[in-house]
Amino acid sequence: MTEFVPVESLDPAKRLPLQFTAKRRGKAPRHLADLALAERRELVAEAGLPAFRAEQLSRHYFAHLTRDPDAMTDLPAAQRESLSDLLLPELVREVTALEADDGATIKTLWELFDGSRVESVLMAYPGRNTVCISSEVGCGMACPFCATGQMGLTRNLSTAEIVEQVRLAAAACADGTLTGEPTRLSNIVFMGMGEPLANFKAVMDAVRRLTDPAPEGFGISARSVVVSTVGLVPAIRKLQAAGIPVTLAVSLHAPDDELRDNLIPINSRWKVGELLDAAHDYFEATGRRVSIEYALIKDINDQAWRADLLARELNTRGRGWAHVNPIPLNPTPGSMWTASEPEVERKFVETLRAAGIRTTVRDTRGSDIDGACGQLAAAVLTEGRR
Ligand code: SF4
Repeated sequence: MTEFVPVESLDPAKRLPLQFTAKRRGKAPRHLADLALAERRELVAEAGLPAFRAEQLSRHYFAHLTRDPDAMTDLPAAQRESLSDLLLPELVREVTALEADDGATIKTLWELFDGSRVESVLMAYPGRNTVCISSEVGCGMACPFCATGQMGLTRNLSTAEIVEQVRLAAAACADGTLTGEPTRLSNIVFMGMGEPLANFKAVMDAVRRLTDPAPEGFGISARSVVVSTVGLVPAIRKLQAAGIPVTLAVSLHAPDDELRDNLIPINSRWKVGELLDAAHDYFEATGRRVSIEYALIKDINDQAWRADLLARELNTRGRGWAHVNPIPLNPTPGSMWTASEPEVERKFVETLRAAGIRTTVRDTRGSDIDGACGQLAAAVLTEGRR
């Protein structure tokens, strides 16, 4: 059972300063991760400082994973604060961090400059470390089984607010916070709060910062970046046209429109057939196998005939282009839906595999710390209202 720490009882040093706690409207402060390197150089030059300082500052952020001016010893002491004020404002503050899976999972709730809250989950696996990040505050897609969907959309995150979640995760790997020894962040999945493709520009700019080499970005392989969607078909096509071969994950959850119209409201706009056509085209264009996410919900979408239908929908478009990841639903508090029985899950998976579909049951990492997207933020918000 998770125990939440009321914000008031946090160490005063961890409490948020006024600019974080006060509800402020407007845009997130400008940050170097919002800008391409050439734009950073321009800003630094406009501030009367040598343009090449932008590269140095960028290397500290993307390669050394720090925004602490004291650590930037290659910069003249007199310029460190001005450069950091100019391009490295504080964007997020930790509110709560919860550990699970014997420390192999850390879920963090972050507060943004306007008091909004989002979360990210850092997970250690043998041979890789993955962070699941948020792209929006809340979500406008209103999927009824999802905690974030119940919150509605507050706002999109800026590029830098997305990138900062990755920088902090990479730093937590590098300084041993995650595994007890220095390690490396290897994978990034856009599966936290929000529908990434509904915040297309900021997410794509963030993907560029993730994949471009330092000092432009972190230099993480595009193959290690997963962008998920519930099915914004035109945006999938735009993602394909952008030519950055990230892995596309489609949160399908039902192979038939009748059920999917209820589980994923956006399905009333773009149907299963159109969505799978777009996903298949993405595979053809990028060579990246598409992940099909399927939350198994007891007596709702877990029937063997639906596994069979799903296999037919995939196979009819070609062999080997999609990989199905069933995951037992992590029910949201008060939800009428719950996870499928293990026996039903087994039958669902067997049916898919018998039809030649690659299938891997995803583990429910962090389920004891409210691992489903949006649940930590929802829980802390509820706590605050008591
Ligand atoms: S499942 Fe994803 S797209 Fe649907 S409401 Fe939740 S966060 Fe949004």
